Amino acid sequence: MATCVLSMANLQSLLDMLSDQGHEILGPTVRDGAVTCDHLHSIQDLPIGLYEVQSGGHYRLKGTGSGSLFSYTTGPQSWKRFLLPPERDFLEIQTHKREVVVSTDTAPPQPMAFFGVRACDMAALERLDKVLSDGPYQASHYKKRRDRTVVIAVNCTRAGDTCFCASMQTGPRVTGGFDILLTELVASDGPYCLAEAGTGRGEDLLAALDATEASEDQVREADEAVKQAADSMGRSITTDNLPDILKASLDDPQWEKIASRCLSCGNCTMVCPTCFCSTTEDTTDLSGSTARRIQRWDSCHTVEFTYIHGGSIRTSVMSRYRQWMMHKLAYWPEQFGSFGCVGCGRCITWCPTGIDITEEAGRFREKAAR
Ligand code: SF4
Ligand code: SF4
Repeated sequence: MATCVLSMANLQSLLDMLSDQGHEILGPTVRDGAVTCDHLHSIQDLPIGLYEVQSGGHYRLKGTGSGSLFSYTTGPQSWKRFLLPPERDFLEIQTHKREVVVSTDTAPPQPMAFFGVRACDMAALERLDKVLSDGPYQASHYKKRRDRTVVIAVNCTRAGDTCFCASMQTGPRVTGGFDILLTELVASDGPYCLAEAGTGRGEDLLAALDATEASEDQVREADEAVKQAADSMGRSITTDNLPDILKASLDDPQWEKIASRCLSCGNCTMVCPTCFCSTTEDTTDLSGSTARRIQRWDSCHTVEFTYIHGGSIRTSVMSRYRQWMMHKLAYWPEQFGSFGCVGCGRCITWCPTGIDITEEAGRFREKAAR
């Protein structure tokens, strides 16, 4: 199917169609001064005319002066919160007199439509799928949600200040995994999108919109805009031989220098679109009649994360930060065949002390070259 042109009205019709089909529409919207992922009821709920200024420990929204729909990049949340919720009940046991009632999380989830997924986040979904859905140990609750999700992706035509997806080969162009892929262009009379289908479901949706075919000039302009975003990216990680360099640096004093700035807050793991670790907690209410088993996001930056019968293994901040970065950039390729980092830059922006994974990886490479 040829690339077609979607007006604002077409985009609204697309949302309406997905909603009529029973999908919960989720996409970028502004809350508390940041672009978050939440329910969308209308195209007007998007962060229209906004972009963000980001650096280590800093994030502010600003106006573009145009009505652009997708000038912002990543915010503090990623799509993992809908597929792998931060907290989930998976077992509840209630006693009524002598009767015991056990409820489990078996209800099929509502189908979801992710609207506006960036290339780095598409790459993150691919990594989560590999771990939680396509590998030997399947998380059935994740797979059920994922299988019922329609993905409307969007190419980035502007690089965020902390993005480095180009160097991780994960963006800014989306290369797969989408039902529909959008690229925004802004004309004098307002924004519009070029759209291409990636699946039969995407083709059906676009066909129902009765959109016009894009011209060669429009396709070229869109390609140029995405290329310009790649070329203007200010950060990068050189990945050649990186796992070996890091593994040879395990005793480097640089780890202590990073740890002296790290607060062990776990923000970097919470905002990271590929971090998937969770813990299980059992609770009972005060009357003793209800017990719940909860799955909750966990972070390798906590001391409790490695607690086993009487003690934790990683008691120092240094050992925990080192494990986090080593897993992303050295161990993940061995386990899953790709880096655990997709270059979204969130851990840089949302680290309260501005620790920058690109700078730190670069320091270890420089030292190895001496
Ligand atoms: S490690 Fe940082 S830059 Fe890489 S994917 Fe996670 S949050 Fe994004
Ligand atoms: S690196 Fe930054 S965000 Fe991560 S735990 Fe340390 S202080 Fe928190």
